[in-house]
Amino acid sequence: VSRVDWSIVVHGGAREIPDEQREAFRSGTLRAVAAGTAVLAAGGSAVDAVEAAVRVLETDPTFNAGTGAVLTADGEPQLDAAIMDGASLDVGAIASGRGLRHPVTVARAALRGPQVLVTGPAIDDLARDAGDEGTPATADTALEGDTVGCIALDGDGHLAAATSTGGLDGSPRGRIGDSPLPGGGFYAEDGVGAVALSGDGERIARTALASWTLHRADGSARQDALDAALARLAGIGGEGGIILLDPEGRAVWAHNSPDFAVAWADSATEPHAATRREDLDA
Ligand code: ASP
Repeated sequence: VSRVDWSIVVHGGAREIPDEQREAFRSGTLRAVAAGTAVLAAGGSAVDAVEAAVRVLETDPTFNAGTGAVLTADGEPQLDAAIMDGASLDVGAIASGRGLRHPVTVARAALRGPQVLVTGPAIDDLARDAGDEGTPATADTALEGDTVGCIALDGDGHLAAATSTGGLDGSPRGRIGDSPLPGGGFYAEDGVGAVALSGDGERIARTALASWTLHRADGSARQDALDAALARLAGIGGEGGIILLDPEGRAVWAHNSPDFAVAWADSATEPHAATRREDLDA
């Protein structure tokens, strides 16, 4: 079998990245890959790896998640996050959380429970379970809408996906995008693949784009499947970026946004990062 032992891909949002911020996006996504790699190389699970990677991005004010989240119209950040275990198809997701330091860990507290997606007071209970002390919201460094995500394959052949976002800048309070919706902004299933997206959340949700892309990829890392997905998104006026891992741990990514910060590594490849797909071919 040509399968790598483990593999991980992280993204830091589909958006325009000013030149003076490219290095922050590169180093931030690489730090997240390093955190996930530490889990995977030690034999840890894909679920633990995607959570560890997203926590790093949530701590970094460069990214629109956790600490750096953008503000809704009423001036407060509002946090969506999700995590999915490709072995069991368990999903834990939260929407419109407030005052959370690590939304992905709060979502993880719901992973093994009966609910898929919760909001309101149910998030407070999960946050207590997750020991999330909460954080005063500061978003001075945040930029307009972008999101973080991570997908991973572990040494046992299990896939996982996670997302975390502050949503879109200036959204109405209570607006929920694609990021906490399984099949919309993310998906993971062993033997099928794992996907995470960023971009125009309503359009990604309306096209069920994570699940659509995996259908189109048909179990392999097909770049043309991602191009077709972006054409579908563009067909209704949407912009975004997609990362995909196939069940063997091969990675592909694509975007029709101006930039998309992505970093990746696997058991046979050193970590790499780019803020634009065409830089790879340069
Ligand atoms: N997709 C996210 C949302 O709509 C935003 C983003 O990816 O930038 O909430």
